[in-house]
Amino acid sequence: MNIILFGPPGAGKGTQAQFIVKNHNYFQLSTGDLLRIESRQNTLLGDKIKKLIKNGNFVSDEVVNNLLKKCITNLKFRDRIIFDGYPRNIDQAKNLDKILIEFNQQISRVIFLNVDRSIIEKRIMGRMTCEKCNKTLNEFFNEAEIELHPCGKKFLIKRTDDNLETVTARYDTYMKTTIPVLDFYSKNTNFTEIDGDIGIEQITSKINDILKV
Ligand code: AMP
Repeated sequence: MNIILFGPPGAGKGTQAQFIVKNHNYFQLSTGDLLRIESRQNTLLGDKIKKLIKNGNFVSDEVVNNLLKKCITNLKFRDRIIFDGYPRNIDQAKNLDKILIEFNQQISRVIFLNVDRSIIEKRIMGRMTCEKCNKTLNEFFNEAEIELHPCGKKFLIKRTDDNLETVTARYDTYMKTTIPVLDFYSKNTNFTEIDGDIGIEQITSKINDILKV
């Protein structure tokens, strides 16, 4: 089954997706990760994406949809995809429906991590991601784990868009453009809201329960 992890920036979608990958053998399709990889290429498109991400703006639907389609059509990931960071607007939600119908797949669970704005700030400002294994840690909450990180502490880096100014812009865009996507999914029986303000392990346990059904 395919899953959408929905929520504001900093809700913990990436962290929870990594647990689902580990515990349930899924593939994490993070459009943010795909775009960051693309932005490291020395191309005009790469530079354009880098600037948009740094300023907290959306990358065009055309670019994101192309990256997405490549993953959905990969047979290795068939019916085992966690959508993390997509869809982020109504057109993307419609596009996802269209591609899934075309490739005879569907969304079985939509999980909304609902997190308070004040908590988001602390999570994002402390976030560090490993350049090698992509694990996400937080300098405020995971001091010991950071010191002992198997790839080495030096590979844990901060994202260029994890600063107060960009966080504010990203949150505003989420409220204006992404929240309407909730209406698209929330009436369906496969939709579940989780209070994302609770601890990481508690959220993981709730997600495990949802995936068992
Ligand atoms: P994320 O890693 O999900 O926080 O995404 C980081 C940044 O990548 C976002 O702030 C956007 O600039 C861009 N991005 C990620 N996913 C999308 C998407 N579905 N549509 C447009 N831009 C996106």
